[in-house]
Amino acid sequence: MSLHVDYLVSGAGAMGMAFSDVILNESDKSLAIVDRRSAPGGHWNDAYPFVRLHQPSAFYGVNSRALGDDLIDQVGWNKGLYELASKGEVCSYFDRVMREQFLPSGRVHYFPNSEVNAQGQVVSLVTGSTVDITSNKQVDAGYMQVEVPATRDPDYAVDSGVTCVPVNALAKVAGPGRIYSIIGGGKTAMDAVLWLLSNEVEAKNIHWVRPRDSWILNRANIQPGELAAKSQQSFVRQMVEIAESETPEDMFQRLNAAEILWRLDDAVWPTMYRCATVTSAEFAQLQRVTNVVRMGHVQRIQTEGLQLAEGSYALPHDTLYIDCSADGLAKRPSKAIFQDQSITLQTVRFCQQVFSAAFIAHAEVAYADDAEKNTICNVVPHPDTAEDFIRVTLANTLNGVTWSQDEALTQWLIAARLDGFSAVRRSDDANMLDVGMKAIANMQRFLAA
Ligand SMILES: Cc1cc2nc3c(=O)[nH]c(=O)nc-3n(C[C@H](O)[C@H](O)[C@H](O)COP(=O)(O)OP(=O)(O)OC[C@H]3O[C@@H](n4cnc5c(N)ncnc54)[C@H](O)[C@@H]3O)c2cc1C
Repeated sequence: MSLHVDYLVSGAGAMGMAFSDVILNESDKSLAIVDRRSAPGGHWNDAYPFVRLHQPSAFYGVNSRALGDDLIDQVGWNKGLYELASKGEVCSYFDRVMREQFLPSGRVHYFPNSEVNAQGQVVSLVTGSTVDITSNKQVDAGYMQVEVPATRDPDYAVDSGVTCVPVNALAKVAGPGRIYSIIGGGKTAMDAVLWLLSNEVEAKNIHWVRPRDSWILNRANIQPGELAAKSQQSFVRQMVEIAESETPEDMFQRLNAAEILWRLDDAVWPTMYRCATVTSAEFAQLQRVTNVVRMGHVQRIQTEGLQLAEGSYALPHDTLYIDCSADGLAKRPSKAIFQDQSITLQTVRFCQQVFSAAFIAHAEVAYADDAEKNTICNVVPHPDTAEDFIRVTLANTLNGVTWSQDEALTQWLIAARLDGFSAVRRSDDANMLDVGMKAIANMQRFLAA
């Protein structure tokens, strides 16, 4: 069999799906979507059972179809804020987008359980059968290399006799009277701790290995709909605080006081920033865990406890070790998104992967040449360190300035479901422009120092 398409998309994860959706809806082009996994949605297929989106469903998925019902949660630790889709909802959503929208269009050819080989053929990983495929452009929708604990082994040794499982198995191994050691300082580890506390495990029975402490985002400031005014106020406040800061430390202290960035322990200055986002109720729960192991990365787990880069930490022999150390937000080297006949999907707004993929597809359709497209699509790599907060906030702000000078693009952004921010951040207020310029100058000064 042979096939020709306009776009050959490698990856049917959230980014590949969000890209393809805009191409389908804004052009008459055809696509082949190839993925090693057997269902669309990428890593969500391997996520832990109690995972939910970290940001409102309202901003997630593909641009053309709502995810969720735009409801505000009435119960739980996200109470009062917009709903967060569960793993099941996210997987079902992408499945329906594929079956109800993409395939019936007649312009999408979907190859699950497949990859593209060195000869450019689509190869089935099940049967080995091949399809000769040619395309006008190749889209790399796997460049961001999302890792989740279930799909890779931890990079520390585990002695025999020790129970160490990926976070996916937490609910299966948990039991009365157990001691837990949560390994990892990121959002997955926070989810694991919250799951234990929500199941009434005593905080003293949790030992949390946090090689680095993190600046954490307050989810109340990232809300759509009837709560968007608060998001707007917090955005204005953030720019004012950055504009008035003397030093990076002063900036973080001000943002902390404004409840834009939180830290779990007032005695520990965070060195990490990876967009982890929680509510005030979740934050208060996380602070209940006081057995925090800050001795660097785990090197080995032995029956008598943890061997870490900076020492050892004794734990009972039947402790359950829960691996939450996979890198779901790898800081990949930036490359030009549009190059020759290739499109490499990356973030153009930090930690907004699906928005970014949809935006890149719009740029592909709406702009003539690669240079122009790359100017609009300036990459904002994932953050990792506290300093990266400054780097990505500056890059986001500069992208926003570039985009705001293009009226057609501005209108697209305001109408885009996946863009939770442009509409609320739009301002003709001369004072705000002045504040924005001062904030940009300060961030540039902090990074140059
Ligand atoms: C627990 C968790 C919660 C999150 N919550 C949010 C949130 O609330 N809001 C938000 O905006 N973001 C969130 N994110 C970020 C999230 O990673 C992205 O939103 C998104 O799901 C990433 O999708 P992706 O397509 O880049 O990657 P993936 O999900 O990894 O998908 C890539 C796919 O490409 C396939 N692939 C790659 N290369 C090839 C190849 N050569 N051939 C064939 N197939 C290939 C892989 O098999 C995979 O299925 C969250 C992430 C995690 C881990």
